[in-house]
Amino acid sequence: MREERQGRLEIRDVTKRYKAENGGVFEALSNASFVVDAGEFVSIVGPSGCGKTTLLRLIAGLDDDYEGVILLENKRVEGASLDRGIVFQDHRLLPWLTLKENVALSLINLNDAANEKDRIVREHIELVRLEGFENAYPHQLSGGMAQRAAIARALAHSPAILLLDEPLGALDAITRIHLQEELQRIWRSEGVSMILVTHDVEEAIFLSDKIVVMNSNPGRIVEEIKITLPEPRDRSGYEFGLIRRKIFKAMLGEEVKRETSDNYAI
Ligand code: ADP
Repeated sequence: MREERQGRLEIRDVTKRYKAENGGVFEALSNASFVVDAGEFVSIVGPSGCGKTTLLRLIAGLDDDYEGVILLENKRVEGASLDRGIVFQDHRLLPWLTLKENVALSLINLNDAANEKDRIVREHIELVRLEGFENAYPHQLSGGMAQRAAIARALAHSPAILLLDEPLGALDAITRIHLQEELQRIWRSEGVSMILVTHDVEEAIFLSDKIVVMNSNPGRIVEEIKITLPEPRDRSGYEFGLIRRKIFKAMLGEEVKRETSDNYAI
């Protein structure tokens, strides 16, 4: 692999307002602050509508109409840029290009020689373990394979940080668990900072150094939880269950305490 930068990201007092349908203003995100340290894996969890996607879009530079400061490696984020790779819930591969061509497309603005670009593409296809499928078209790949291809494409141009917006959300439960393990392996191998937006609290605990818990009305950060459980993490372990319970409590409030403890037999 080429030398990876390890991007530190700082979100400071970020507030985002949208125009409401009644002509007023709706605060989707209120005074959000947190840091992703270099090489850290941070998940953002919270109920639907709490502003997770809004926050990720601001970090990605897809929307610059907000208050506050977003710094990547001490530089203000301005517009979309290849220093922030993104993977969405749907793979967004171009259907008329092969896997290899889809990954290569992300290097189009790189000045490296063609054989160097070929090497980068090959290495990233190997990284996500899709050797042998270089010439397959997206419709010939399973959902999990297509998401791996999307990860390869996002990492090929050596971003400082990888933004993952529910990348495993559309996969079946078994593929999802398998890809969580793959994502962890890829993160370890690349050393790149990652932010994962997910509805899946277990997924967040399994993968993260830190979990940012959000809540809605207005969308805000209610808790930051460092996860120091040793790896590989045991999803049925006692400590794991305690963290899960703490997150549900922060996300949903006291009234669901009984329900969550019943559901998860903690
Ligand atoms: P989440 O990803 O946590 O489900 P979102 O960031 O998508 O939440 O949305 C947060 C809130 O902002 C929601 O109430 C949503 O309806 C609102 N919202 C999102 N995008 C827009 C927009 N372009 N215009 C108006 N309201 C929006």
